[in-house]
Amino acid sequence: MQFKSSEDGGQLERYLKALPKAELHVHMEGSISPQMLLRLAETNGLKLPFSSSRQCKKLYAYNSFQDFANILLLGVSCLRKVDDFFEVILDMGTGMAQQNIQYAEITWTPQFYLNRSYSLNDILGAMNEARSILAIRSGLEIRWIPDIVRSRPQPAQAIAAWAATQEARDAGVVALGLGGPEAGYPASNFSAPFRYAKQAGLCANPHAGEGAGSQSIWQTIEELKPSRIGHGISAIDDPELVSYLVREALPLEVCLTSNIRLGICSSYDSHPLKRLIDAGCMVTLNTDDPVLFQTTLTREYLVAIQECGLAVQNIKDVILHALSCSYLQDFEKSRLIKSFINKFDELDRLFLNESQGR
Ligand SMILES: [Zn+2]
Repeated sequence: MQFKSSEDGGQLERYLKALPKAELHVHMEGSISPQMLLRLAETNGLKLPFSSSRQCKKLYAYNSFQDFANILLLGVSCLRKVDDFFEVILDMGTGMAQQNIQYAEITWTPQFYLNRSYSLNDILGAMNEARSILAIRSGLEIRWIPDIVRSRPQPAQAIAAWAATQEARDAGVVALGLGGPEAGYPASNFSAPFRYAKQAGLCANPHAGEGAGSQSIWQTIEELKPSRIGHGISAIDDPELVSYLVREALPLEVCLTSNIRLGICSSYDSHPLKRLIDAGCMVTLNTDDPVLFQTTLTREYLVAIQECGLAVQNIKDVILHALSCSYLQDFEKSRLIKSFINKFDELDRLFLNESQGR
């Protein structure tokens, strides 16, 4: 499918919106909408530094990492009751379904919610109530990736131990994530919890090569034996690492707008996305923190085409890569891949007829 002229812009956007999608790198804490923040604040009797969605959105115009972290933590501070997790996942998943996202692996950070009157299993139970409703209502399938934070290693072992329990895995936990600042907090600090989680059957899904160079990715690979790398874009500066990623088919979860908004890349056209794809890397596209970066997965695909030089076929490849490197069982992957390819063909026919009928 090709969209040649500039007047096809609207048609391209409709096409991308209609594509069935999968997302592997998206944080619950970065996906709490302004309306949801206001609702949570009201029901929990909290005072926010804004009183409308429009005022809240002004806070998303931050230009420092600290301001970004502050607004993220403001969202976390509104999650008080166990039911709040149900509300947030239901709202987040409803937005995903509206973009035709049919499969998502959602990361969340358990250590924000330790020492509460309820347990991590209670939180997971509430999130799973929303997950069940979303599956029935829209067919959206969700799995969970609890992560640990590089700069706060103290609870890492306890969180890994919890995530690796049979109860958590039966409740949809598929991997252990690792986020937070890389510089000064090497992956080697987390070898033990990741080894433990892997022995119990969880995959390792760390961020690396976002705010630090390729050495951080090498170390993460050696120490944690990851199944995918969150971001990983600094690999582009290291041909030997790019060759390794291609040879091992180790997937990267690229988050374009996140990299621009956090100053990791100066512009879309200088982003290494296309160079990584051209080199043969297995790339997926993701939003990271869609509310905080004011983006959607549909928009990320559009920007990848319009600003980074990807073709529509690259987007289809990116979507199928997300399914094939997801943590679903093989038979579930095959079923979804087949269904997505059929849908792609159907959309191509539909949009081709539309173009010819003009
Ligand atoms: Zn992330």
